Amino acid sequence: ANRLGVTNIRFDNYREQYPLDTTSPCVVRDANKCILCGDCVRMCHEVEGVGVLGFTNRGSNMLMTTPFLRDLNETNCVGCGQCRVVCPTGALGHLASAMRYIGFEEVYDTDFGADLTVIEEGKELVERLKSGENLPLFTSCCPAWVKFCEDRYPEFAKNISTCRSPQQMFGALIKEEARMKKDEDSRRTVVVSIMPCTAKKGEILRPEHFTEGEQNVDYVLTTTEIAEMIKSIGIDMAKLTPEALDMPFGMSSGAGAIFGNTGGVTEAVLRFLMNSNKPEELDEIKFSGVRGNDAIKEATVNLDGKDVRIAIVNGLGNASKILDEMKEGIVKYDFIEVMTCRHGCVNGGGQPVSLGQEPTTAVARQNGLYRFDSRSQIKSSGQNPVALNLYEGILKGKEHKLLHNEK
Ligand code: SF4
Repeated sequence: ANRLGVTNIRFDNYREQYPLDTTSPCVVRDANKCILCGDCVRMCHEVEGVGVLGFTNRGSNMLMTTPFLRDLNETNCVGCGQCRVVCPTGALGHLASAMRYIGFEEVYDTDFGADLTVIEEGKELVERLKSGENLPLFTSCCPAWVKFCEDRYPEFAKNISTCRSPQQMFGALIKEEARMKKDEDSRRTVVVSIMPCTAKKGEILRPEHFTEGEQNVDYVLTTTEIAEMIKSIGIDMAKLTPEALDMPFGMSSGAGAIFGNTGGVTEAVLRFLMNSNKPEELDEIKFSGVRGNDAIKEATVNLDGKDVRIAIVNGLGNASKILDEMKEGIVKYDFIEVMTCRHGCVNGGGQPVSLGQEPTTAVARQNGLYRFDSRSQIKSSGQNPVALNLYEGILKGKEHKLLHNEK
């Protein structure tokens, strides 16, 4: 109907109308749009293994809802938005933005934050391998996975990296810079992230993502929301002249770019740890088993004479499998990357949905990131000169405060 421009319905709607569920910071649920196809129920239950959506009642009273008709924020919803990705009617729509126009003053790329995450996570892995404590190290950049692990497998919460996600590291850095400038500039700095992810809307509200009592990131707009804003303002993207990102945080590595693909975080961390730049070294990592869209990928790499066992998990349902096997002692790893969304953030819950085209669209986005990486001069986060300079500047002595969760 949307494609054909059918906006008016001649017939009265006698179905019971339900209020919007706006209790989650991540997704809005509009039960009135639901056509009971069950795709979101299958995604939440069978693919992600979260299971907060289901059917209740029978016949014309049937309703897709949460257990005991609870609001979303009272359930174990992890906010990943994968229900929205498969919803054919937009009943699980993104949060509408109240912004009336776009007026951002400085524009950066979160890939720069990803470079910092790679550096810090790489160092943390080395430390844990040395001490043997809290292994395997779990990645922490996916907030839906972090919430899932805390809710369902609290015994493994200590394994989650203390590193903040790229969004949070970047926000903390920008806010710190603003605090340092305060005397000379009394304006308030507001950080707005544009993310492929609905769960990032929840991440900014978590207490550990505040620094000096201040939220690191003030608002999150999904890519769908920003696209709608651009459209509603009447900006014709095709007619815009491309402009460079602002400096000093506008420079990122190819490793930061591939962070959005499943396996990308692992590949980026390995490049950092192996200090790789030569094509043959980069190929060795690329073909170690980190790429592709399998449910669970495994790789073993040799770091300083020690074999490091790695697992890369695509979706929370598969995370459950691997955690259950770890509990039973069937499998053992040193490093585990988990991304909630199939294919990675390229297929995040906040991305524009192309019905009937998945997973082709997600794979095309993945290939776009790998192309960006292949054209990058800087392949490893540890070779990003701007990131390295920060460790001698604004980050000096503040690495833990700005780049790690306050615990
Ligand atoms: Fe968000 Fe990426 Fe995690 Fe999906 S995989 S929930 S887009 S951080």
